[in-house]
Amino acid sequence: MAVDFGCIADDFTGATDIAGILARTGATVNLRIGVPDATDQLATDDTAAFEVIALKSRTAPVDEAIAQTTQALAWLQQQGAQRFFWKYCSTFDSTADGNIGSVSLALMKQLGTDRTLYCPAFPENGRSVYMGYLYVGQQLLNESPMQHHPLTPMRDANLARLLAPQIAAVDAAETVGNLLLSDIRQGVAAVTQRLQHYQATGVRHIIADAIEADDLSVIAEATHDWPLLTGGSAIAMYLPALYARAGLTQHSSQSAAPEVPGAGQIVLSGSCSSMTRQQVAAYRSHATSIDVDPLVLARDESELPRLISTLQSIPPESPKLIVASADPEQVKHVQSELGVEAAGTLVESALSALAAAAFDTGVRRFVVAGGETSGAVTAQLGVDRLRIGPEIAPGVPWTYTRVKGESVALALKSGNFGQPDFFHKALTQLESH
Ligand code: ADP
Repeated sequence: MAVDFGCIADDFTGATDIAGILARTGATVNLRIGVPDATDQLATDDTAAFEVIALKSRTAPVDEAIAQTTQALAWLQQQGAQRFFWKYCSTFDSTADGNIGSVSLALMKQLGTDRTLYCPAFPENGRSVYMGYLYVGQQLLNESPMQHHPLTPMRDANLARLLAPQIAAVDAAETVGNLLLSDIRQGVAAVTQRLQHYQATGVRHIIADAIEADDLSVIAEATHDWPLLTGGSAIAMYLPALYARAGLTQHSSQSAAPEVPGAGQIVLSGSCSSMTRQQVAAYRSHATSIDVDPLVLARDESELPRLISTLQSIPPESPKLIVASADPEQVKHVQSELGVEAAGTLVESALSALAAAAFDTGVRRFVVAGGETSGAVTAQLGVDRLRIGPEIAPGVPWTYTRVKGESVALALKSGNFGQPDFFHKALTQLESH
């Protein structure tokens, strides 16, 4: 199948988020983990109309982020895609050097296009842009908890001020302009006129205001035929219908629905976020729990085999909950004993080993909580491509893949997503399909 639309995301759960939003519209969507191998015939035989590639480039050195992203673009171009989306976080997570602006510029060069749009707004999730300033709920970005982010602390809410140096570091001649709400509220014709003016005056990087879903709809309509758009996932929601209306899709037929996998099920929780801990608490009464204690794992090498044999003693169809999640005090204690990185890696590899053991006992339905944890589990199961299914909660779809020839369903949830009943809801939803 030829690809209509190629999306590149700078992290895994961001890719799941946009893939779920595209699939919401009925489009056939694949998510691939890492840049696919151009010589992998299987990969190119199995493309969907909408292809999403998940990278891990958000905080990578600029050169590396550019190299990964342009390779992903080249693969999507080879598959026939004509329009592209560079997906980053709706809180514009980036460092002073990049990678949002620098990567956008590299993608523009490779596509030979003279302009792009920056639209991080996601009103449904409380991210809005007004007068070029990004808000998280009622707070300016730099007054929100994002100011303390360990890797990408956001100390300014003015998107032009954030973006300009990232672009200028690559090319000092590049300029940034704002598409303001005053134009957007006048409708598509006014926006098109403003964008034409920017094009005529050589302003190539346009930052869009948007505070409501209708604003995104107007912006999408005015820009959907551009080769490259960038932003959070919300604006992408409008693209499939606009492409279909404009005859920009090469096919409309849906591919066959993926085979529903066997009944064996498991929930693996490696996120320590407050929402995930609520979800764990709510699910305990539905399942047999196995608790993973990093300190015991670190001092006793028989602990992991013991956990695995406990798991193997539970029938695959019985609900199971594997819990590493702990509250901030406990996590701090573990990290002070083992080191931050080592603690994370130890837990991730234990949960991955348990996931693999569960697969071997016949488990085919996996719910995984935690972005890094999801990355580790998918890597352990050898998963590099997922077909996107129905959404369980905003930003978290069921996904389907094959592991060792077997059909498998995975729900991969980043820490704060979903409501307290998420685990039960996810598995119940799959039963009704
Ligand atoms: P989130 O999406 O909430 O950020 P992640 O899976 O990305 O979740 O990150 C959680 C990290 O915390 C993982 O590296 C995981 O291995 C680690 N972790 C999980 N449980 C514990 C624990 N009890 N003590 C220390 N670290 C833990």
